[in-house]
Amino acid sequence: MNWDEFAHWGKHIADWAADYHATLRDRPVRAQTAPGAIAAQLPPAPPETAEAMDTIMADFERIVMPGMTHWQHPRFFAYFPANAAPPSMLAEMLVTTIAAQCMLWQTSPAATEVEGAMIDWLRQALGLPEGFSGVIQDSASSATLSAVLTMRERATGWRGNREGLSGMGRLRIYCSDQVHSSIDRAAWVAGIGQENLVKIATTGGPSFAIDTDSLQARIAQDRAAGHVPAGIIAITGGTGIGASDDLQAVLRVAKAEDLYTHLDAAWAGSAMICPEYREAFWKGVDGFDSIVFNPHKWLGAQFDCSVQFLKDPAQQLNTLKIEPEYLKTSGDAVINYSEWTIPLGRRFRALKLWFLIRAYGLEGLRARIRNHVAWAGEVCEAIRALPGFEIVTDPILSIFTFRCPGDDARQQRLVDAINADGRIYITQGMHQGRKMIRFQVGQFDCTREDVMLAADVIRDIERTLP
Ligand SMILES: *Cc1c(COP(=O)(O)O)cnc(C)c1O
Repeated sequence: MNWDEFAHWGKHIADWAADYHATLRDRPVRAQTAPGAIAAQLPPAPPETAEAMDTIMADFERIVMPGMTHWQHPRFFAYFPANAAPPSMLAEMLVTTIAAQCMLWQTSPAATEVEGAMIDWLRQALGLPEGFSGVIQDSASSATLSAVLTMRERATGWRGNREGLSGMGRLRIYCSDQVHSSIDRAAWVAGIGQENLVKIATTGGPSFAIDTDSLQARIAQDRAAGHVPAGIIAITGGTGIGASDDLQAVLRVAKAEDLYTHLDAAWAGSAMICPEYREAFWKGVDGFDSIVFNPHKWLGAQFDCSVQFLKDPAQQLNTLKIEPEYLKTSGDAVINYSEWTIPLGRRFRALKLWFLIRAYGLEGLRARIRNHVAWAGEVCEAIRALPGFEIVTDPILSIFTFRCPGDDARQQRLVDAINADGRIYITQGMHQGRKMIRFQVGQFDCTREDVMLAADVIRDIERTLP
């Protein structure tokens, strides 16, 4: 393809994108295809000769699009959003075009310096004190793994990377039983092991915070048994129901035990740009060593974009920095962000934050989040009022969970029937041994009508179920 053709198709695709968004409400939110249906339409072998772009685009529409679940659909109430606000998409197009590898300052100084500035803009936006720096990662999973590796190295006197873990004792990491599976995987991959990720029960509603008395007791017990406590992972906004720890109480334990602390605020962190939520969710956050939140969720930065704030980056650098000869650069006055993370290669992710924050302003972003929280409360009340329905957990920011009348199997049948209908998309979960239905509001362009329509859809479809 030459660059004239590229320009032609680039314009075509920009038009296609605007049209896609204009017609999203007419599409079923969740893909309605059967397993294997898309694969069956793809030729089993690659073409030997060139095909025309017209043909490729036509096949994209015909084969691929019916197999897409529409994450930007305004009636997407499943999981958590992966929002892609248009200015962030435009920045991504530029980044894709320039296609720089931003591993070191000198491999693209602007990427490094815009990243530093965006980390500091977001630090201020989230009400974190001066002194925190940070790095943009691909995902919260990677940031959490980086933090867990730092816990490991710190607890082994920085010997784990060099000597391996045998003979280091049983390293222990503590968290509540509400954490995301990325914390389990970080423990696996870091060589800590599932059995040494100690999950403590919560004190129950409304916030489902980790029981810090049990946490303290468990750490004492582990020390007595000769184990090596290495760190605590807290959450602001757990995945299932939005469980949120008492950060100050967690920190008191961590300080007393000299443990490294990491806070997973992957989805709920974005809401902390609104000062009024900080009292309930963010008090004590400034004491954490590492904090992760995903602008690619609620804030609207096109996936992927995860920010890890660090109080003392030297600890993570001591864990991850490696400098073979070919990566050495002259001069120490610059940051090489690849030393802060596990992958060497890095995309220029900061540009989409720069576009996004400027195009909406913090007030524009706050207005969306405030609406989502308010509408989650309203639709929760509408569902509570449906005959026989029960709210299992009340809204924590934008998420709540409910049950329809009937047993666990009927909950799943309702979810399946709703998603087959296609007007809205929701997912199920488990809470205290019972199946429940999760509902979260967070799609960037959803309206109050979109959200309230969900209660009608749920009511109408529930009536048709046996
Ligand atoms: C989404 C989410 C994660 C995982 O985020 P990735 O960026 O996909 O790795 C972790 N923790 C919580 C609480 C989340 O909501």
